Amino acid sequence: MFGKILIANRGEIACRVIRTARRLGVRTVAVYSAADAQARHVRLADEAAAIGPPPARESYLVARRVIDAALATGAEAIHPGYGFLSENEEFAAACAAAGIVFIGPPAAAIRAMGNKSAAKALMEAAPVPLVPGYHGSEQDAAFLQREADRIGYPVLLKPSAGGGGKGMRIVDASTGFAAALASCKREALSSFGDERVLVEKYITRPRHIEIQIFADTHGNAVHLFERDCSVQRRHQKVLEEAPAPGMTVERRREMGAAAVAAARAVGYVGAGTVEFIADQDGRFYFMEMNTRLQVEHPVTEMITGQDLVEWQLRVAAGEALPLAQERLAIHGHALEARIYAEDPSRGFLPSTGRLVHLALPGESAHVRIDSGVEEGDEITPWYDPMIAKLIVWDETRPRALARMREALAACRIVGVTSNVEFLGRVVTSASFASADLDTGLIEREGEALFPPSRALPAAALYAATAALLAHQAARSARRAASEDDRNSPWAATDAFRLNAVAQRRIVFRAGESEHVVTLDQAEGGTRMSADGAPRAEVGVIGDATGAFVLAIDGLRQAMRVVVQDERHHVFMADGVHVLTHVDPLAAVAEGHGVEAGFAAPMPGKVIAWLAEPGSDVAKGTPLIILEAMKMEHTITAPAAGRVVRFRFGVGEQVSEGAELVEFVVAKP
Ligand code: ADP
Ligand code: ADP
Ligand code: MG
Repeated sequence: MFGKILIANRGEIACRVIRTARRLGVRTVAVYSAADAQARHVRLADEAAAIGPPPARESYLVARRVIDAALATGAEAIHPGYGFLSENEEFAAACAAAGIVFIGPPAAAIRAMGNKSAAKALMEAAPVPLVPGYHGSEQDAAFLQREADRIGYPVLLKPSAGGGGKGMRIVDASTGFAAALASCKREALSSFGDERVLVEKYITRPRHIEIQIFADTHGNAVHLFERDCSVQRRHQKVLEEAPAPGMTVERRREMGAAAVAAARAVGYVGAGTVEFIADQDGRFYFMEMNTRLQVEHPVTEMITGQDLVEWQLRVAAGEALPLAQERLAIHGHALEARIYAEDPSRGFLPSTGRLVHLALPGESAHVRIDSGVEEGDEITPWYDPMIAKLIVWDETRPRALARMREALAACRIVGVTSNVEFLGRVVTSASFASADLDTGLIEREGEALFPPSRALPAAALYAATAALLAHQAARSARRAASEDDRNSPWAATDAFRLNAVAQRRIVFRAGESEHVVTLDQAEGGTRMSADGAPRAEVGVIGDATGAFVLAIDGLRQAMRVVVQDERHHVFMADGVHVLTHVDPLAAVAEGHGVEAGFAAPMPGKVIAWLAEPGSDVAKGTPLIILEAMKMEHTITAPAAGRVVRFRFGVGEQVSEGAELVEFVVAKP
């Protein structure tokens, strides 16, 4: 085994590799960009080396800097994680040339699988079943259209050099082919520097089922069963599970054998994943091979009881695979949810900021958390905005599902918008619960997954009010203590106690609407009324600045309110409600008909203008498409108003915070 390895990655995967290395007594070296100097993976590693400025192109993607860091620290091997340099054959070759072990497959195997078209040609010969399609070198538009006509619509166009779901276009009929081809080629060129495409039959209601394989340098190759990654948005995975619901022993054997054949055909070594697309009848076709560890590998670890990073390290160190095929077995069911800092209601727009409050469920035999951040850390615009992976295990799928719901309900994230509630709705959706899986699940369940907006329960307003008062009381107690004048009348925030009854009116904003809580405090207790509803007796058991029990007319419920400036995040059984306290003095200053700009949420490139400069638009009208963080994001009008002008042209690069549009909000 190695004495010291360097991890050429960041975040959750870097932390996860460190965990295994530490258990095996292997020392670790982290690398970090200037944006990550304080990051968790740097804090956890034994040593760390700076490799450049925040943009990945200038740090995590610079092979030379990573290799120099390994040489400087005496690391014998480099673990690439996923993303970044993990599927870069030049990097694998450069490691070898520098006398450092690349913890992954040989450069030739990465090359063989790196291009989807070339890989399909190889797989055809293996033989591994392929989706009907054209993956040859002829790229003439008229020729490709004839191929699509021959295959039969719908077809899917994919960049041959693609990844991450980018550039793919579904074409429903011959008439739409030319335009789709042009836009697929455009995105392929800008994302991968290679405009070649392939055409595939578009499988309707498909499932994404992939097989984990492993091979060593002694000629052994095994598979560690399948994962179902059908729950996707924009062709990117959201939830993964193992085993795949409905998988038969016979089909598992066939798919496993095909995956092992695929690996052997390219002289594979190490961990890899062979991705298949399966139709509802269970027929399966090779899609591509990912020549690295996969984001969703933990579900396989949970059902096999194996540590795949340990396997990677052993294989890279020249050992044989720890187990033969017949010694591998599936035990129970595992699910993984990817928790991202993003806003599902705004097209999954990434969200950045400080994790003011981060509570994730505790780890146990049933729950595992892989995370690259802790409370107080920052989600920056530079990298994938993943907060954590939540993995659960139990004996059966229904029980694992119950664990997942419970675990998601225990997540509290304040400071960035997250997809936690969205994930909660996905796992409770009828389709997911009954394992009626296909890649269109999120769209099909749209109504349930993107509810218009939930009614605000009075309890949320009462809890926010209690927290607001408790924080004010704590503040003035601190002030009084620091002034050492406990008897000062200015220290008394609960002035109402001095009188028999004091009334207050507190206003919160939730989304677009304002809510008023009236509060009577008398010796006997506190009565509150929300938006003019009948008064209720409200009591707080515990400390309303943290977790407490709220009793409304004697009915108790657990609450937790996390306050961030004026925003009160009320966590309760039905999820979180964000209520902004409207300070009566500050509200006076707000007017209408003012200029409103909106800032780019992250650095990116303007892809399109969607509105006419000078035009009046309704709230929610799409205005501009920004490309950032591997995806396109549509920025919409925050209110009804006039688009005065766009400040950046199409194709221009914008930095985070740049004002994109000059916009005047309409007078009501
Ligand atoms: P998977 O099929 O495993 O989701 P992807 O190719 O979509 O594979 O990417 C794997 C992961 O690698 C992503 O979820 C992300 O965390 C990371 N990743 C990929 N590309 C990048 C990148 N350019 N910068 C940062 N992280 C990346
Ligand atoms: P990437 O490199 O972006 O991961 P893949 O070829 O693995 O590209 O495809 C990504 C996703 O696109 C799949 O998981 C699946 O949801 C969908 N997809 C790919 N090929 C097809 C197809 N032929 N028919 C229907 N959906 C497909
Ligand atoms: Mg894929």
